[in-house]
Amino acid sequence: MAVLSKRIGLLDTENAFKIGPKIRAIEDQGKKVIKCNLGEPDFPVPGFIKEEVKRQIDLDNTHYCDPQGILPLREAVARHFRETRGIDADPGRVVVFPGGKPPIGLSQEAYCDPGDEVIYPSPGYPIYESFTRYVGARPVPVHLKEESGFSLSGADIAAAITPRTRMIFLNFPSNPTGGVASKEQLADIAGVIRRKCSPDVRVYSDEVYEHIIFDGSRHQSIISIPGMEKITVLVSGASKSFSWTGGRIGWALFPTVEEAETFKNLNINYFSCVSPYNQEGSRLGLESPLAREAIRGMVKAFQERRDMIVPGLSSIPGVRCQNPGGAFYVFPNVSGMCEHLGVFDAYKALSPDVRTLTTPSTLLQMFLLFEYQVATMDRKSFGRIGTESMHYLRISIATDLESLKQAVARIREAAQDVKGFAKFMEKGQNLY
Ligand code: PMP
Repeated sequence: MAVLSKRIGLLDTENAFKIGPKIRAIEDQGKKVIKCNLGEPDFPVPGFIKEEVKRQIDLDNTHYCDPQGILPLREAVARHFRETRGIDADPGRVVVFPGGKPPIGLSQEAYCDPGDEVIYPSPGYPIYESFTRYVGARPVPVHLKEESGFSLSGADIAAAITPRTRMIFLNFPSNPTGGVASKEQLADIAGVIRRKCSPDVRVYSDEVYEHIIFDGSRHQSIISIPGMEKITVLVSGASKSFSWTGGRIGWALFPTVEEAETFKNLNINYFSCVSPYNQEGSRLGLESPLAREAIRGMVKAFQERRDMIVPGLSSIPGVRCQNPGGAFYVFPNVSGMCEHLGVFDAYKALSPDVRTLTTPSTLLQMFLLFEYQVATMDRKSFGRIGTESMHYLRISIATDLESLKQAVARIREAAQDVKGFAKFMEKGQNLY
């Protein structure tokens, strides 16, 4: 008999939360690590939201509240979705969660039976894949192609759909690639889904980066395509839009009131409700013109950093970097750098046990972290299945411009350090 259930062993994780102790250990040695691993904006919560939260606490709005989410926030969410997506959203179909993350697992619990298939993008946010086996479903990654800007076509989705398909996850702008989808692409994807899937299949459109879009473009949502509102779960939240990851407020619009009621009951079972004062702060964030200003400032800074880092990384021999259309990540292909440093040979020479725990891009990630003090994320942190021959790093640009310039300089130096990499491997430590 084992202490833990077999099922819990099937749950994967988000490595961005696991690399912290390694960084702290390096910093404890007095070295400064440039943190390009972070998945949260490096800006404070806008002042007017902070004030509202403080005011709500002073009003003693600190008790249990509606498990579905307070009505004023659900109304603000429904209004925001109506105005920006041209849909018919109403607050009865909105549910508030402690962040944009919980509805990912909860929806797999609510919609999937054992043997059902879950389609999701790879590279993609790791929690989509993490939950599939835990709920007994079969993970079906759709591998996004660098050549197509890490976007997705109807044909890509068509190839993954079977009679067992139950959920299809989409995420634009994307973590980790920054890829966005045009209205035409979304219409193409929607057309395929409507033709090939039963109306019981759910599209989960994760739009938590909806406000972080570059080059003056507008965010496009699959739910705006006629017919999609009936089958789409639309998710967003306060973490990225209001630079408020610690507030733990996210929300989802479900196709029917009955589905919203089911998720309300899941909330009752798991967390009762979400802090009412933070919900009031989020409500004001959605309603106030001041939020638009704060978001504009944040997007301008991200775009400036993108415009520095993409050419910077691309000028490093062995690195090829796409220009992201949104979010705050770049996702360079580092195959050439791995080849030059001897990473592939070093990987092949590892014992089979260690090889199952690491990958070439993980070795490069660890070399950059421990020898050059630049924290990045490896390819396997964004989906593992079928990605053995894919060699990328995610570099977050949620770090100030000067630090990012230094990071590029350090990576450039590391790319030439064949001897340094060989020495790092000789030590045999920190290989994953
Ligand atoms: N979806 C995506 C694509 C994300 O990148 C994140 C955060 N990194 C989330 C959901 C969850 O965000 P939170 O729970 O902090 O709102």
